[in-house]
Amino acid sequence: SLDIDISTDGVLTADTHLVQSFADLNALKQDGNRTAIVGAEGAFVTDSEGQQLIDGIGGLWCVNAGHKRKEIIDAITDQLNTLDYYSTFYNFTHPTAAALSAKLAELAPGHLNAVHFGNSGSVANDSAIRILHHYYNRLGKPNKKLVLSRQGAYHGSTYLAMAMTQPAYSTGWDTAQGLVHHLRCPHHWREGEGMTETEFLDVLLDDAKSRIEALGAENIACFIAEPIQGAGGLIVPPEGYHAKMGALMRDYDIKYITDEVVTSFGRLGHFFASKDVFGVQPDIITTAKGLTSGYQPLSATILSDEIHEVISGEGAMFLHGMTYSGHPAASAAALANIALMERDQIPERVRTTGKRFESNLRELADLDLVGEVRGSHFMMGIEFVKDKEKKTPFEPEDQIGLKIARAAQNRGLIARPLGNILILSPTLIMTEELIDQTSGILRDSITEVQ
Ligand code: PLP
Repeated sequence: SLDIDISTDGVLTADTHLVQSFADLNALKQDGNRTAIVGAEGAFVTDSEGQQLIDGIGGLWCVNAGHKRKEIIDAITDQLNTLDYYSTFYNFTHPTAAALSAKLAELAPGHLNAVHFGNSGSVANDSAIRILHHYYNRLGKPNKKLVLSRQGAYHGSTYLAMAMTQPAYSTGWDTAQGLVHHLRCPHHWREGEGMTETEFLDVLLDDAKSRIEALGAENIACFIAEPIQGAGGLIVPPEGYHAKMGALMRDYDIKYITDEVVTSFGRLGHFFASKDVFGVQPDIITTAKGLTSGYQPLSATILSDEIHEVISGEGAMFLHGMTYSGHPAASAAALANIALMERDQIPERVRTTGKRFESNLRELADLDLVGEVRGSHFMMGIEFVKDKEKKTPFEPEDQIGLKIARAAQNRGLIARPLGNILILSPTLIMTEELIDQTSGILRDSITEVQ
């Protein structure tokens, strides 16, 4: 056994050496209010007090297949016993990464058949932009480099991924400047006051069109969009949005990147949501999280044949890659995860169980504090308001999301506060009983706080 102290004494105190991510470090220093998770199985995790909690956020919307799945753990172990590490640099390859790339080409829609691996969603998105820039250089269009993103987006926290994320996420921080332009957020309830959803969609399309005309399509490389915006507020665009934006971008010769870091691998009832759910054929899909159900860090940037052809043409040199691109253990985890999802028909089952989850949560809209319940299947958000009629937002110091999340945790459910919003993105193996229990806990917790 390892001679390392992994007891939780010290983990919960202010003098830990661990710098937490997306955290109020000062508040942590003052009150040390951390939750140490020490074990997990199925749809549950266990904290250091021994409390069993429903994992209502699937780790970080990534543990799609559920915790402690033997098939995935065995595949990782077997792989490590066979080949612990080799790279996919230069002319080296290995069978597991190669097999996974073929499997992803089979699952991805249309002519998306070329896969470059990374180790996080942020890196997958950075890679998409670097590769596209190189693609345009090769086409003799060196000025076609700008990126269109959107208010409400979250694409990661490397320098470039954060620049593509909505600016609110970078308060007090810098991002890569000059490259990214944010289009309007497609949130009808907040942004489309007084308009029908169809009218609002026209406004969004006009906004995109006028921004493209102003910047010049010859200067714009791509549009990047999450099918449903996640960490930016759980925003589902108006019906038909992606299909129409796809057509618009095609007209202007602007590539469409769908960031499916959250929406893929069953969360919305399909392996990929772009085409099957939203009717858009992207030029690039980025994915991570549910790709391995979080068991290993792995991401993929999946390119169209057309892009692949240009970057692998005569005289091209692919000067991009990470040491762990296509790591054997991570690739093995992904293959086992996909096999398990296919065997147990997880995406298909989500179309029923996820719908129950969605409709249970939508019923919470009758509570005074609840302004809007939104999302789809196992990707849901609840926005709290001070005044329901006027949609008056709570102030940050009200900490409404945090208070309700804490009330839920006391009742045995982890939910994720995001300002005035509570995010629910559980494992995809939730039974009907657990789904009902989760919505019951949420109702009690919101009622307690209001
Ligand atoms: N893209 C989306 C849509 C995400 O939700 C996230 C993370 O939450 C990322 C990208 C970044 O992924 P990672 O945290 O693995 O870098």
